Amino acid sequence: MDTVLWSALSADEQRAVLKRSPMVGDVSLGETVKDILDKVRSRGDVALLDFSARFDKVEVSSLRLDDAEIRAACARVDESLKAAIRDARANIATFHSAQKMADISLETLPGVRCELKSEAIDKVGLYIPGGSAPLISTVLMLAVPAELAGCNQRVLVSPPPIDDAIVYAASLCGISEIFQVGGAQAIAALAYGTDSIPAVDKIFGPGNRFVTEAKAQVARDSRAAVTIDMPAGPSEVLIIADEFANPEFVAADLLSQAEHGSDSQVILVTDSSELAAGVSAALSRQLSALPRKETAETALSSSRIIITDNLTDAAGVSNRYAPEHLIIQTQAPRELLKYIRAAGSVFLGAYTPESVGDYASGTNHVLPTYGYSKSVSSLSLADFSRRFTVQELTAEGLSRLGNTVMPLAGAESLDAHKNAVKIRLDALNAANELN
Ligand code: NAD
Repeated sequence: MDTVLWSALSADEQRAVLKRSPMVGDVSLGETVKDILDKVRSRGDVALLDFSARFDKVEVSSLRLDDAEIRAACARVDESLKAAIRDARANIATFHSAQKMADISLETLPGVRCELKSEAIDKVGLYIPGGSAPLISTVLMLAVPAELAGCNQRVLVSPPPIDDAIVYAASLCGISEIFQVGGAQAIAALAYGTDSIPAVDKIFGPGNRFVTEAKAQVARDSRAAVTIDMPAGPSEVLIIADEFANPEFVAADLLSQAEHGSDSQVILVTDSSELAAGVSAALSRQLSALPRKETAETALSSSRIIITDNLTDAAGVSNRYAPEHLIIQTQAPRELLKYIRAAGSVFLGAYTPESVGDYASGTNHVLPTYGYSKSVSSLSLADFSRRFTVQELTAEGLSRLGNTVMPLAGAESLDAHKNAVKIRLDALNAANELN
């Protein structure tokens, strides 16, 4: 990893140091994905099978897993892994159940009642990455809140050959519609529907750049009428550490992101050059023992260590980068948290590796990447519902509100709007005169 001194960089150099490699919106990626979406729209399941053979090198005989295949896959999963999946599910369910929001019902004026209600999204599509590693934990992160929210139809897709533990985790969360298909083609199927795969109302889940670009494209396509959770692309971590941090812990956390994919990005920001040197040495040591050494090495080659004058500046660098994951390993991490304005999920202290949030602490690991944490939240129960409002006025309520609505409608030259109130107030006045 290159080491740079933040205060010695020009404004342009600082921008360059925090730049990510293109994820979405890059022209050739856009065209590749558009072509895949078009083919799935026109050729349906046939295109899905072709793309699986081409990109995943797997000849799939049937896209949907039948009940016998689901039972057989579940039976093959090791009992200790099943127990870990159940434990993680319990923690995720506890944290997400607590996110249930109460409906609101109040009067803004006597006789003017306003309500905010929420309703589960009926049909949801859950994308589970499986290209470089089967993300069993992602099943829990999507399926638990979808079940708690009450989403009626939950359709799960994951690249072939689908991992047995993914099938077990899905079954545990009550999902029976499981399809072996991945990449942009799976997103197209969820958006437009095919003979086998039903179109859904909203697509959830992280993925590589093909998946993320496909989600962005279908969300813009009015023919699909589908929405997406967020741009959750290649993983990132930024660690703020001071001289009190353990360099071995910091290196382990950097590597846990770097092994995700060669396009993962990891950054260390520190006010201590001794810590920076210690982490570099620990990285070399730990890297050599990793089975996914090559992937991690490529990711590290485009990552960096930034040395700042103090920890407040380090928080400033982090806010500019707006990382998906932010780990703070300093003497007083909660003190620094006060300065953090943008991060998908924050991990405080020496004993909170990112891995706990990835799997089982209870928080959601589907998080905005690419700087979107400045405005996009981490995935939560609310994302699986839609909110809508209700209002009900009594005659008294309309009489009170009419004198506010009519001048506003008049000022906008929307006379029919004004008249819809006036006609009722006139009727009320006439009835009052009769009494
Ligand atoms: P994936 O399932 O996202 O992608 C695999 C699919 O990509 C394959 O099925 C294939 O169809 C398609 N593909 C591969 N090469 C292609 C090509 N040349 N052209 C067209 N399509 C191609 O799995 P992955 O690749 O392992 O990526 C998972 C990603 O998810 C990682 O980048 C990881 O960092 C990220 N992730 C993000 C979050 C988050 O919350 N942001 C959480 C977990 C994982």
